[in-house]
Amino acid sequence: MTTTAHDIVFRLEQKRRVQADFPGPKSIALTERRRAVVAAGVASSVPVYVADADGGIIHDVDGNAFIDLGSGIAVTSVGASDPAVIGAVKEAVEHFTHTCFMVTPYESYVALAEQLNRLTPGDHEKRTVLFNSGAEAVENAVKVARLATGRDAVVAFDHAYHGRTNLTMALTAKAMPYKSGPAGSFGPFAPEVYRVPMSYPYREENPDLTGAEAAQRAITMIEKQIGAGLVAAVIIEPIQGEGGFIVPAEGFLPALAAWARDNGIVLIADEVQSGFCRTGEWFAVNHEGVVPDIITMAKGIAGGMPLSAITGRADLLDAVHAGGLGGTYGGNPVACAAALAAIGSMEEYNLAGRARHIEELATGRLHALQKELAGARKAVMGDVRGRGAMLAIELVHAGTKQPNPELTKAVAAACLQEGVIILTCGTYGNVIRLLPPLVITDELLNDGLDVLAGAIRANA
Ligand SMILES: *Cc1c(COP(=O)(O)O)cnc(C)c1O
Repeated sequence: MTTTAHDIVFRLEQKRRVQADFPGPKSIALTERRRAVVAAGVASSVPVYVADADGGIIHDVDGNAFIDLGSGIAVTSVGASDPAVIGAVKEAVEHFTHTCFMVTPYESYVALAEQLNRLTPGDHEKRTVLFNSGAEAVENAVKVARLATGRDAVVAFDHAYHGRTNLTMALTAKAMPYKSGPAGSFGPFAPEVYRVPMSYPYREENPDLTGAEAAQRAITMIEKQIGAGLVAAVIIEPIQGEGGFIVPAEGFLPALAAWARDNGIVLIADEVQSGFCRTGEWFAVNHEGVVPDIITMAKGIAGGMPLSAITGRADLLDAVHAGGLGGTYGGNPVACAAALAAIGSMEEYNLAGRARHIEELATGRLHALQKELAGARKAVMGDVRGRGAMLAIELVHAGTKQPNPELTKAVAAACLQEGVIILTCGTYGNVIRLLPPLVITDELLNDGLDVLAGAIRANA
């Protein structure tokens, strides 16, 4: 018999409880201390400081309890204090905190590579390398693709987000705040990065454009403007994250994958946000049976500990000379132990199934609300989309497709006021995204969705 998420016993009561006038005195004092010492460039969307977190609840230092519909940006899928992860971390840290796998290796790194090779799509021979952050995984996937193919060009998509390091800023599509701001640019950016159109069903000029046709549009641009023979890699988020939870039209990813294969181009699936049961499958590419050459992973992989990975075709990864890949902290033993435990919890609690359940519950309610508002001539919910527990509402000016970032901000603020943490995203800043921990109870999720519905109704 498999355990279900309903059987999880939480340490903290799974209940929202906030004072009307938060932030409280302790959070206000911390904000003042912070202002004097933390760089202004690091912004926080919530003005309270965390004391504890478990399941779908975050407690602040003044005793408020918030519903977490963001999971620290899709990280704490197993919850912020999963007992299995905590136990594994404690066990590992009592033995050694670090030795560096490149100096004196240890078993947990190897065991995690075995798990990732097993869980990622495709039954081909695979190899894995571990790093610390999503951006670092993306950087290394591109390094491997360039060295293995002997080519330079890398193709990314409109609305893409791949990180904040120099190369990954170049791959990212959104200028503000990631690449530049009012004070200037973080560039110059890495060369040999090219951008092509994404499949964005809600915003296609031709609403009947198929996924295969959208892929052909991108492919033609690559062939005409770069030359397929010069392209080392095409990198794509199978469901785009920061860009707006954009799910490409069916057939887009398979067509792109087939063309990449035919042209000796490495297909890199950036599953940093969409991986690890988030979309109702281990990986988002699984929904269409796409097998990438290299897959990048981070965020949900290790129950909140910093860890990232690339897993890919053995012939590509092993093309790199000994010593060509690595890093001081990559695959830290405590983080590896956490990842092994988090993967164990995902399997034990069937969190992929749980993500599908969340999709069913939430999209049913969101579609009903979309209809209700349209009936009241307040059609501000332009699109409801996503997979599993990676769901989004694209907000527009009523009756148009014109992005409405002001409403989006107002809705997120109204939710927060009621004690529900909700993130926004999107190239146009007009997308509400739902990324609850996969272990969240139905009761808490419904409470959060009640608040969200109220906030949209009140501000529409
Ligand atoms: C968050 C994210 C990254 C960057 O990960 P970091 O750990 O913040 O460096 C890269 N790709 C995608 C798709 C992401 O969502």
